[in-house]
Amino acid sequence: MSFDYDLFVIGGGSGGVRAARVAAADTGAKVGMAEESRYGGTCVIRGCVPKKLMVFASSYAPAMKQAAAYGWDVQSGDFDWPAFRINLEGELDRLEGIYRNLLKNSGVETYDFRATVTGPNTVRLSDGRKFSAKTILVATGGWPSVPQVPGAEYTITSNEIFHLETLPKRILIVGGGYIACEFAGILNGLGADAHLWYRGTKVLRGFDEEARDVISQGMQERGITIVTETNIAQINKSEGGLQVTDTQGAVHDFDLVMYATGRAPNSAGLGLEALGVGLDPVGAVEVDVYSQTAVPSIYAIGDVTDRVNLTPVAIREGMAFVETALKGNPTRVDHALIPSAIFTQPEYGTIGLSEEDARAEEAIEVYATSFRPMNTSFINDPHRVLMKLVVSQATRKILGCHIVADGAGEMIQMAGIAVKMGATKEDFDRVCAVHPTMSEELVTMKSPVRTA
Ligand code: NDP
Repeated sequence: MSFDYDLFVIGGGSGGVRAARVAAADTGAKVGMAEESRYGGTCVIRGCVPKKLMVFASSYAPAMKQAAAYGWDVQSGDFDWPAFRINLEGELDRLEGIYRNLLKNSGVETYDFRATVTGPNTVRLSDGRKFSAKTILVATGGWPSVPQVPGAEYTITSNEIFHLETLPKRILIVGGGYIACEFAGILNGLGADAHLWYRGTKVLRGFDEEARDVISQGMQERGITIVTETNIAQINKSEGGLQVTDTQGAVHDFDLVMYATGRAPNSAGLGLEALGVGLDPVGAVEVDVYSQTAVPSIYAIGDVTDRVNLTPVAIREGMAFVETALKGNPTRVDHALIPSAIFTQPEYGTIGLSEEDARAEEAIEVYATSFRPMNTSFINDPHRVLMKLVVSQATRKILGCHIVADGAGEMIQMAGIAVKMGATKEDFDRVCAVHPTMSEELVTMKSPVRTA
C-alpha cells in the first residue's frame, strides 16, 4: 500500500520538529508536518526562550544595585518594556525562521494548519486537505490550564505575558510551581510589585524541602510577597485594574492577574479517542516505552504524553521515535536522573531524589551547606546559597544533588554528568576543589549533617 507520506507529524514544537527533520534527513523518509500556530512551539515561542531572556533582563536591576555597592557610580533608570518587547519579538521571529529553514532544508513539507487524525493512517487539515501516512506522530504539547473561578476571563497565563502593552505595577501570580515562581522573580526584577499566592504551604511542591526553603526565603528577600494557603475566590473588574477576593474573603487590588496553575496535554479534538488511542484522565496520550499508542501506526511524544515535561526530554523522545519507527531499531528514552533547572531568583539546579524521597527508599546521608557567597557577602547582601548532596549509605552513590545559587542551572549540567555516571560521595571527594567558587563545597563537605 502506498501512502502520501512515510511520516506525518502533528505539532511543530521542539519534539515534533526534531523528529520530522531527523526522519527526513537521516532516513530519506517523505515527511509532512502540520502546525496551527508558530514553529518552535512552547519552548521557543511562549516558554523557555522568551522566559530566559526575561530572566536576563530582570537580573540587571539587582546587578546594578550590587555594582553600586561595589563602588560603581551607577545611574539606573526605569526598564523600557516596549523596547525590550520589540527586540524579543524580533528574536523569536528569527528563531522561528531558523526552525522553518531546518525543516525545509531537510525536505519536510509543512502545512500551517491544524490537523486531526481521521484514521490509523489518515490526517485531515483544517482547510479540508487529506493525507495518508504510514506513521503518524502526535507532538501537540500542552496548554495552560486555568481554574474556573468567577472572573477568570480577566486573567492571563504565561502565553500572554510576553505580549503585554505595558508592564503591570502590581501583579498577582497564582500557583507555586515552575512558572509561577519564575515569573514572580522576573516581574519583581523588572520593577513590578509582585505577589504570589499559593494554595499549599510552601512553593515548589515535590522538590527538596531544604532547597524549597532557601528559594522561598530568597524570593521574599528580593521583594516578592508570597502568601501561602490562599487562592482566588472571585475577580471583578475595577477602574483601571482588577479587584481580587481571596478565599478568606479579603479584597485586593491588582493591575494584572496571571494564573500559573499547571499545563494540560493538548490532546482534545484531535480525533484520537475515536480511533482507540488511550487518553488518561488529564488527557495525556497513553504510550508505551517506545512512545507507541494502542494504535500501532500512531505514536506520541513530548508534553502531550505528560511524562517528563521538559524540552530536552521531548527532543530525546523524538530521536528515539525515529530510531524505533523509521530505522527499525527499537529505542527507549531513559527518563531516570534528568537534571533540570528552575530559573527562580535564586536559581535552582537539581538532579535525582529529594532528601525526603531518598529517605523513603533507603538509608541515606545528607551533606549540605547553606552560606552567603563571597560576591554578595562582601556587600552585606543577606542572600544564601545551598549546596547539597543526598548519598546512599549502602552504595555511597549520589542519589540527589541540589544547588540553589546564581548559575545553578549551569552547575547542575556538569554535576549531572557525574551523578548519571553513578558517582559516589568518595568520587566527588577525590576531585580537587576549584577555589574560590561556590560549587567547591560540593567536593569539600566532610561530615554528613544528617543520617537516616
Ligand atoms: P506546575 O505543575 O509546576 O505547578 C502548578 C502549580 O499550580 C502548583 O503549585 C499547583 O499547586 C498549583 N495549582 C494547580 N491547580 C490549582 C488551582 N486550581 N488553584 C490554585 N493553584 C493551583 O505547573 P506550571 O504551570 O508551573 O508549569 C507547567 C510545566 O511546565 C512544569 O511541570 C514543567 O514541566 C514545565 N516548565 C519547566 C520549566 C523549567 O524546566 N525551568 C519552566 C516552566 C515550565 P499544588 O502544588 O498544590 O498542586
